Amino acid sequence: MALPIVHYNHPILRKKGAKVTAFDAALAEFAAEMVATMHAANGIGLAAQQVGRALMLCVIDLREATAEFNWTLDGAKPPLDLFMPLTLANPVVTVLPATTDTVYEEGCLSFPGIRGDIERPDLISVKFQDERGVPHVMVCDGLLGRCVQHEVDHLNGVLFIERMDKKVRAEVDEAVKTLAKATREAAKAAKA
Ligand SMILES: [Zn+2]
Repeated sequence: MALPIVHYNHPILRKKGAKVTAFDAALAEFAAEMVATMHAANGIGLAAQQVGRALMLCVIDLREATAEFNWTLDGAKPPLDLFMPLTLANPVVTVLPATTDTVYEEGCLSFPGIRGDIERPDLISVKFQDERGVPHVMVCDGLLGRCVQHEVDHLNGVLFIERMDKKVRAEVDEAVKTLAKATREAAKAAKA
């Protein structure tokens, strides 16, 4: 079942997620609902804050992506079909020293229709637990590294508009303000 996606500037998007400590059936079900929500919205990543819960949990699925990327998971290179959709609980990103920064146009399911170029480190390592609590280390670059960084930002209450340089941020400013107003009005209408 797909969950409603929270739009900017709902306050939950600014909340740092609580650490996932219970890897039980309820967590597995919530992760499955997040995957269904991401797929229904044609997204490649979704964070718990985007469905209204401040939790260190996000999901990623790049099986349909055309952009290039490399990965190793726990030192091996399994095919994507074996580990995606991927659930990351309590992820911690480390930028690897060998990396360069790259620029790529990002979007976000909490900012429908808004896109902008963002510079990020290319090569990262991420430590996380899967939905059963099993720890993993993934090293990745390209679109996968970028997607992980975007989602882990969400888990820390950081939004992609804050990663834009001044020029790009100015270009989307009007659309961002219009979206914030629409979100406020929808919240008011829901309360009335
Ligand atoms: Zn996002």
